Order: sequence, then C-alpha cells, then structure tokens
Amino acid sequence: MGTVSFYPGPSRVYPKVKRYLQDAYRNNIVSINHRSDEFVEISKSTIRLLHEKLNVPDDYTIYFVSSATESWEIIAQSLIKEQSIHLFNGAFGKKWFEYTARIKPGTTAKPFTLQEKLKPAAFTSGDTLCITQNETSNGTQVTNKLIQQLHAKNPNHLIAVDATSSMAGIELDFTSADVWFASVQKCFGLPAGLAVLICSPAALKRAEQVNHRQHYNSLLYLHEMMQQYQTTYTPNVLGIYLLKCVLESAKPIKKVSSTIKSRYKKWESFFDTKSNQLNFLARSKAVRSHTVLAIEAPVAKVQQVKAAAKEAGFLLGNGYGEWKNTTFRIANFPAIQRKEIARLMDFLYGFI
Ligand SMILES: *Cc1c(COP(=O)(O)O)cnc(C)c1O
Repeated sequence: MGTVSFYPGPSRVYPKVKRYLQDAYRNNIVSINHRSDEFVEISKSTIRLLHEKLNVPDDYTIYFVSSATESWEIIAQSLIKEQSIHLFNGAFGKKWFEYTARIKPGTTAKPFTLQEKLKPAAFTSGDTLCITQNETSNGTQVTNKLIQQLHAKNPNHLIAVDATSSMAGIELDFTSADVWFASVQKCFGLPAGLAVLICSPAALKRAEQVNHRQHYNSLLYLHEMMQQYQTTYTPNVLGIYLLKCVLESAKPIKKVSSTIKSRYKKWESFFDTKSNQLNFLARSKAVRSHTVLAIEAPVAKVQQVKAAAKEAGFLLGNGYGEWKNTTFRIANFPAIQRKEIARLMDFLYGFI
C-alpha cells in the first residue's frame, strides 16, 4: 500500500482520477484546441455542474483561472476601487493582504487572533472586504453566519472570500458574498493547476465601474470570453476535463458537507477527549475548520509523530508559517476515504 496523503494541499486526489486521466489520453482530450466545439462542450458542462453540485446561484458567473493566487491578483486589479480591508488570522490571509497592498497601496489589514471569531463590524472606509473563509495555515474557519452578518452590515462593500481549502468540502452560502475562489488541489481532490473564480452580479457591476483592461486576466476579458465558455489564454484543458469528471459523480454539497462534518466530529472527540498531548491549535470549537485540522504539540512530539507517520504510510501536513514547528496538519477532504481516516486514528492512538 502506498503512502496516504493527509496533506492539506496539494492533497490526495480521488482514486478515480487515474481512470479519468487514461480516458483523457485515449480520447485525445489532452490535445484538443481550446477554441474547438469539443472544448466548449467540456467547459459548458463543467460550469453547469459547478452551479448544480455546489449550489452556486444562477446569477453568479464562474470563470476558470490558474490558481487562488491569481484570483488575489484579479480582485486587486479588476475589483478593488481604492482600498480593500483584509480581515485575517493566519498566513494565507496575511499573504493575500501583502500581495494586494503591492497593487493597491491604500489596502488595510485588520488582523484578529486565532482564538477569537471574526467580528462582523460595519466599515466606514474601504470599498472591498477580503476574508479567508478557511485559513489553511492554522485550521480555523469563518462561518456562513458571520459572513452573512458582515454582508448585512456592509451592503455597499464588495465582499471577496478565499475558500481555497473548503469549497467542494463544506456548504458555502454564496449569496452572502460577491467573489469566491478556490484552487482545485485541496477539497476538489484534483491535481494542481486550475482554480475557479465565482462572481455575483454586484461584482460584475463593480468590474464595469473599475473598467480595468490592462491585463489578459482582467475580469471583463474573462467575462467576455466566458460568454462562449472560453478563456483569454490557453487553459488547463486537462484540469477542466478532470474537474468535470469528478463533479459528474460528486454528491450534492449538502451531502458532502454532512459527511465532512461527521468525520470532523470524530476527530474532535479524538483530540479533545482522548488525547492529552495532541491538541487543536484553535481552542474554541466555534472557530475550528472542518476541512483542515491543525494539531499542536511540543516541537519534539510533532517531529516524532510526523516521522513515525511517514514510516507507517501516512503523510501528515507540516505546520505552516508561525506554527511550522509546533503543529502538524491533517486534511479532512472528501477524497480521503473513511477507512484511511480510521487507520490514521489507530496510528495516532500511539501518541496521545
Ligand atoms: C493553498 C491556498 C492558497 C494558494 O493556492 P494556490 O493555488 O497555490 O494559488 C490560497 N489561499 C488559501 C486559503 C489556501 O489554502
């Protein structure tokens, strides 16, 4: 048996990806032209399936881009007028803020700690609010409810949400924000090199006001090309095809979400009640992510667990950023199988 990856990205891909790759090669998908009818059919089906399986509202539009990082750039160039405000508690939210600040110097950071919830305040400055729904670096999340409250208090701000390590794993209320994005190498269970960017009608209106047209990935160009289910550049056709295949057999997000939550609950009881030495980095249950678990322990313990896990055929995620040496991470993504989780739990019993 090979190593099972519990790394929270790039992560375990669905085992059926092997067959889809073979089909793609056999059926020559790997060399089709991105302006051909064949590509347009694949693209159109994929967009339809994203709406259907993830519950994306009909009036929200979906675009193919190359990564979450590119989405940060598109938002900064095409959607932020003068100033965005970034509410974050971890390394990815901070990186997004720093990246945006280089493009829009007026950008402001509103950090909060990982032991507290995001506060849905009413903002009197800024035109765009940026939040990281699932902070992959420390295993915390912002609930749909808090995003709804933030939206209600800031009806004139655009709200952009990084859902890279939760989209396709948990149910997101897309109507509560204007821009959502995720790359596919996390919860989608696919190889890296593709991301989806989802925009509300208000986001498109904003793009028209900003009228940014200096870059190939300006949202207005992406939108124009998407009218024909195409992209402004030669896209990752294989990635889009694999996404289509995975979505075709995916359960509706409500169902997936409830599986993820019940698996998370098992992990929660494991670490909270059975273990003294391995603890959630986030103390409060209310802020913990359901898809990425960050587990804290003394440095030597973390090293010991990771090394032994490797020997036993499990790849655990390293700690990230300031929690690099004092945590390890466990992905709770849909592509991971129930029996694999049971095996990892059995293994971890030796270290609690
Ligand atoms: C992984 C990750 C990113 C970066 O994704 P790329 O596909 O490498 O651009 C951004 N934000 C979050 C929350 C992530 O987990």
